[in-house]
Amino acid sequence: MDLNNTTKTVLVTGGSRGIGAAISLELGTQKFNVIVNYNTKVDEANAIVDQIKKQGGNAIAIQANIAIPEESERLFREIETAYGQVDILVNNAGITRDKSFRKMQKTEWDEVINTNLSSAYNTSQLAIHKMIEQKYGRIINISSVIGQSGGFGQTNYAAAKAGLIGFSKSLALETAKYGITVNCICPGFIKTEMVAAMPTEVLASIVAKIPAASLGSPSDIAKGVAFLIDAPYITGQCLNINGGLYM
Ligand code: NAP
Repeated sequence: MDLNNTTKTVLVTGGSRGIGAAISLELGTQKFNVIVNYNTKVDEANAIVDQIKKQGGNAIAIQANIAIPEESERLFREIETAYGQVDILVNNAGITRDKSFRKMQKTEWDEVINTNLSSAYNTSQLAIHKMIEQKYGRIINISSVIGQSGGFGQTNYAAAKAGLIGFSKSLALETAKYGITVNCICPGFIKTEMVAAMPTEVLASIVAKIPAASLGSPSDIAKGVAFLIDAPYITGQCLNINGGLYM
């Protein structure tokens, strides 16, 4: 199969808001078929699809909770009907349930691990076989600076994001010979609803520690994704996009 001449299909989990929306829009302008996955907010997902179509691109929105294996399977069945296989997988969907460890409930641990880490198992397991068969694939996992440095009140989130880094390196080792690259992006603090939910004084103290002296924008991360898609010799790496916060 000559993949150079075919339109590639990219799945962006949590592609409807924040960083995922910026990734969907960036790739939508680059002539990919874009699957905008979302969990609860259909209007946001449809708005991103409309914007991509207005710019002349191809996109569809598909609801699925990617923390649940059966929903991930349904997502891939719907993608297969619409476009065939997934050539590029961006594991972006994520949540926070911040709390100091001594107060953290098992449900808050499980919810974050399932949504932010086990989801990457679910989707990558469904994508990887066809990627190996066609000898082409890109998997880009959106980790976090918190997975590298730790974060106060974020044992669940840091464990999941650090887990994504180890997952990416191991899968990169196993699949490099098939023309597949697996990388992470580790964003610092990016202006989205996730960060807007933080107390103002906490956010101000974080910004004071960022050498670039400001939050990043979702499009900074989207450009990193586009770069990694176009980089066949980069695999098993973490691309830090954090304004110098962690070096
Ligand atoms: P956000 O604004 O809260 O958006 C989260 C997106 O994920 C939404 O599209 C949401 O869909 C989707 N989502 C959540 N749970 C899902 C599930 N179970 N199944 C499918 N989709 C789900 O978050 P963000 O700030 O853009 O963050 C995106 C990613 O970057 C996350 O993995 C986050 O951990 C990581 N990150 C963010 C920052 C930052 O500063 N913002 C920094 C480092 C890393 P619905 O709206 O439909 O629920």
